[in-house]
Amino acid sequence: MTTPLLHVDGLSVEFPQRRQRLQALDGISFTLEAGEVLGFVGESGAGKSLTGAAIMGLLEPPGRITAGSITLEGRRIDGNAAGVRGREIGMIFQDPLTSLNPLRTVGDQLVETIQLHLNLPAEAAGARAAQLLEEVGIDPARRGAFPHEFSGGMRQRIVIALALAPEPKLIIADEPTTALDVSIQAQVLALLRRLCKERGAAVILITHDMGVIAETTDRVAVLYAGRLVEDGLTAAVIAAPRHPYTRGLMASTPNLDAVSVDTVLPQIPGSMPGLSALPDGCRFHPRCDVALPDCSRVAPVFAHGVACHKFAAEQKGEAADAG
Ligand code: SF4
Repeated sequence: MTTPLLHVDGLSVEFPQRRQRLQALDGISFTLEAGEVLGFVGESGAGKSLTGAAIMGLLEPPGRITAGSITLEGRRIDGNAAGVRGREIGMIFQDPLTSLNPLRTVGDQLVETIQLHLNLPAEAAGARAAQLLEEVGIDPARRGAFPHEFSGGMRQRIVIALALAPEPKLIIADEPTTALDVSIQAQVLALLRRLCKERGAAVILITHDMGVIAETTDRVAVLYAGRLVEDGLTAAVIAAPRHPYTRGLMASTPNLDAVSVDTVLPQIPGSMPGLSALPDGCRFHPRCDVALPDCSRVAPVFAHGVACHKFAAEQKGEAADAG
């Protein structure tokens, strides 16, 4: 068996408070292969960004990993992510201005990043910077411009160039296009996907938007209230979602089934529970329209790509029928 690029195994994160410990992630496990584009999807508070932050070693105190491990090409990086951040794992945030220095030209920022991580002489780093700008669709003649002289979409292209400059193995992109015009979003996501595929770099794309998942990713991991509830190839999950939460997310997403603009999309009733009020059993049970009696008492085990009592019961029933 080959070693996956990234293996997250049983990752749990807690935020200790004075009276209780808030469990923000509970036993998240997944693997990621080189060149694969994996989407994390779920509503706000599902744990998507937190999982990305834990991998990058960027958990905000008092948050801390309480169980599990994170390995990159077989090396443990939990507790030591600073050593891989930037060089081996690049990060793209929603707001490009968090990654760009407003006081320095984009060319200087690219050259500095290239020199820092790839140890190239100035001339070679300059040529590499120009090539990167060209690859992301920006005229290299504009390398002397400052970030504020570019549009939002152009700035995010520059951030993609900066993230790719150290030739990382993995890029974590957290809602990278949410702040952009809809017409620009698809172009930027397609660019990110293409450039990573060309380099064999893997991507974790964090989004709340099932449409983005459908367009951009190879595989999808659905998170709910700090737990992984479904994981599978994107095409298979979109064609036949198995977890009731995934079905709800898809039903509430426009454009997946070419609905008309007048169509009122069904919403999942209720809202994501807060960390201080996580329900027992399946954390989705107060919002689930197919809940079974066990669902409010016993947490479902993640098996065959899904964590759901109803799905497990149906699988058992089908197996019995087949027998
Ligand atoms: Fe619904 Fe129960 Fe499945 Fe949770 S475990 S999603 S409550 S059927």
